[in-house]
Amino acid sequence: MNEQVKNQILETIEAFHTVIVSRHIRPDGDAVGSTKGLTKILRDTYPEKKIYLADDDFSDALAFCGGEDDVPEEIYGKALLIVVDTGTRKRISNKNYAKAKKIIKIDHHIEADPYGDINWVEDFRSSACEMIADFCHTFRGRLKLSAEAATFIYMGMVTDSGRFRFEGVTGETLRLAGEMLDCGVDYEKLFANLYAEEADALKFKAFLYDNIKLTKNGVAYLYIDKTTQEKFSLTFEEASDVVSELSRIKGSLIWVAFIKNEEKGNIRVRLRSRFLGINDLAIKYHGGGHNMAAGATVFSEHEMEELLADADTLLGQFKETHKDAL
Ligand code: AMP
Repeated sequence: MNEQVKNQILETIEAFHTVIVSRHIRPDGDAVGSTKGLTKILRDTYPEKKIYLADDDFSDALAFCGGEDDVPEEIYGKALLIVVDTGTRKRISNKNYAKAKKIIKIDHHIEADPYGDINWVEDFRSSACEMIADFCHTFRGRLKLSAEAATFIYMGMVTDSGRFRFEGVTGETLRLAGEMLDCGVDYEKLFANLYAEEADALKFKAFLYDNIKLTKNGVAYLYIDKTTQEKFSLTFEEASDVVSELSRIKGSLIWVAFIKNEEKGNIRVRLRSRFLGINDLAIKYHGGGHNMAAGATVFSEHEMEELLADADTLLGQFKETHKDAL
């Protein structure tokens, strides 16, 4: 698929001496895996080129993947920038991105901002890492895929697809994941790192389970305010992770986590759903993302209530016509 644009991307990479790889703010497993994996592939394939990984943000949970590079600002003018897993330019975690000579966008979000000079966007892919795996598959023999790079790519594939459970996982996803495993992915170490939790985190979970709320039609939600973040000494990222705790409640086909962002004075919203889409709801509240996993921002507790009322109506309508959904 999209053979032409992939060829154009490889030709462009080959034409540049300096390549910088970047991703989205608040990097997750897919953002880290795809950029770390691509950087490693490019470094191994083109040792004569200067390949950088630039990121202004950091994930504590993914610190085991290693750090990023300091990229001198003056090199951007001659550099190719490849931005992976980032739907819109305002989410690019690189303050210098616009200074690059050329930009390639590689992404699996619904297209909302084709900011690249070349845009390779496949929103049917379960992860951006799946696209990098596909890129390796297309150019096998030309690109060098080490066990380390394959492990990064596999990490993004498993995390963004909920361990191959979410919508978007296809036979091709698993075939490409299989190609990564064939390269020697260290999955024992990978999963140990992905699942390890601090003992205190479990105490916080106990608190969460005690405080989950449900709307009339069953939208499950949690609001992690400033007091709770302080009580459990949570980073903003740790507080944001709560969304996954809401995903298995019977009848709750939409679930939402609200996380107070003291620094920005707003409330981050993480929306998830099963069987019905919530992307339009996210767009209404200054966000977007995927059909069943999206993010938004609200600016007051009143607006939080409005979003919940909209989500509740949406779920109520869905349940009217899908009595046996869950
Ligand atoms: P999150 O809850 O932040 O993990 O977001 C779920 C999905 O929606 C991710 O793929 C994000 O890249 C995307 N997303 C989150 N926030 C926004 C936003 N404000 N605008 C567009 N996409 C977003």
